[in-house]
Amino acid sequence: PAVLLELEQVSKTFPVKIGMRKRSVSAVDGVDLLVREGSTVGIVGESGCGKSTLARLIVGLVPHDDGTIRFAGQALGSKGRRPRSVVEQMQMVFQDPYSALNPKATIGESIAFPLRVQGVPTAEIQERVGTVLTDVGLHPNYATHYPHQLSGGQRQRVNIARALALHPRLVVLDEAVSALDKSIQAQILNLLDDLQEAYGLTYVFISHDLNVVEWSSDEVAVMYLGRVVETCPAEDLYRRPLHPYTQGLLASIPKLDPRERAADAGRIDGEMPSPLDPPSGCRFRTRCPSAHERCAQEAPVLAEVEPGHRVACHLHTGADVPVEAPSLRST
Ligand code: SF4
Ligand code: MG
Repeated sequence: PAVLLELEQVSKTFPVKIGMRKRSVSAVDGVDLLVREGSTVGIVGESGCGKSTLARLIVGLVPHDDGTIRFAGQALGSKGRRPRSVVEQMQMVFQDPYSALNPKATIGESIAFPLRVQGVPTAEIQERVGTVLTDVGLHPNYATHYPHQLSGGQRQRVNIARALALHPRLVVLDEAVSALDKSIQAQILNLLDDLQEAYGLTYVFISHDLNVVEWSSDEVAVMYLGRVVETCPAEDLYRRPLHPYTQGLLASIPKLDPRERAADAGRIDGEMPSPLDPPSGCRFRTRCPSAHERCAQEAPVLAEVEPGHRVACHLHTGADVPVEAPSLRST
């Protein structure tokens, strides 16, 4: 399938004031990403890794400073407004299903509002509201309800319906199921999967939860302190994680099997350093069990080490170190 979204060396720095001093935080630093039409690309990492900023850069809520974002072959500059046709083809669904809805507006009004802005005729708006409510598994009667009358899962269905009503090609889901109970999460993930089929949607799925990302994504990008450290097919993430950070993330997932629980060898120690003062060279080196001299001097570049599997780590791209992933378990 054709590439729908492409990011090339996209960066974003935010100014911050600390006391009297003006500093800058590099939230996203040189990110490359390729999203094929009809697929789901998951972006995973701890809070503060830049994944939410990346989501906002993609949909244009925040302008990028540097690099290129290309959508359906069209380069979107960092300066100036995006063409309306592009803005309408990208929608975002946020984490908190309650605050995303106006409490004083009915569900129908909330879904209709962006359609009105877009100039869709009133008769068609009525029809589209009913259709999308049905498509997300809610009775069209919900159009007359208010957000407080709905459960968290129902409200997230409404947010998804509102995004769908605009007939987007790309939907960026930022922690879209993170605030929901596990059983509701599964329902919403299944719904998103069905809608992807029915509407031919492309998803960028952002989450701190590896299980959720693995379940929902075709490809995964792992972020650490503003950079992508590994990208691969979702099944490779579990089968063959190559970056020490990815290996640590996987090892921190609570295991159901008690025999596996003891093997915590790969856990990540320490805290994520402040993005105000990222470590030199590899940003993960302060927490990496395999850090060596070169890691402080040279930032590893994201390089393809197996077909479709790219990693930014000197263990895999360095000439001086054998290309061999350290074992996840201490067997
Ligand atoms: Fe660890 Fe060095 Fe690889 Fe960074 S480049 S992940 S510090 S081994
Ligand atoms: Mg899918």
